[in-house]
Amino acid sequence: MTDPDAESHDIIMGEVLELCREAGDRGDCPVAAVIVRDGLIIGRGSNKLATEGDPTAHAEVEAIRDAAHRAGSPDLSGATLCSAMEPCPMCAWAIEEAKIGRVVLDARHAGMRRTDYGNYPIEKLIAMTCSSLDVIDGVRVEDCEAARRAWKNWVEPPPSIGSVSAKH
Ligand SMILES: [Zn+2]
Repeated sequence: MTDPDAESHDIIMGEVLELCREAGDRGDCPVAAVIVRDGLIIGRGSNKLATEGDPTAHAEVEAIRDAAHRAGSPDLSGATLCSAMEPCPMCAWAIEEAKIGRVVLDARHAGMRRTDYGNYPIEKLIAMTCSSLDVIDGVRVEDCEAARRAWKNWVEPPPSIGSVSAKH
């Protein structure tokens, strides 16, 4: 869908990228998310899997925990979650559970040629579960992809089969 709040999403994604850098600096995967409601940031999160040893400590889940704690409610209706990466299935469902209606995402798993989520795009999960979650992308894709690639553990996937010329 077209983004009615493109300017504010660009600013918020700047904050997300700053959180990505902080995560990378402390040794975590540089992915971050910020939750906004009524023009105010109500939650921030970044991946803490490595430093906390918690496989559920993805950026979006951390941001949802922060926002729900601050709001004093698990109901984040009316909020938008902005994430540097396309939320994985676990995070996408946490977003649904929190009743967040809109996601702004930039780097895509497929766009970075990642295969660890198979052929998952978030739109498939939305369709499968009849979710009404809105998805906006393309705000700062190159910056978010660069942040992800800056991680010490990032391994660049090989070019897709289709782009490799056949050799006999
Ligand atoms: Zn996730």
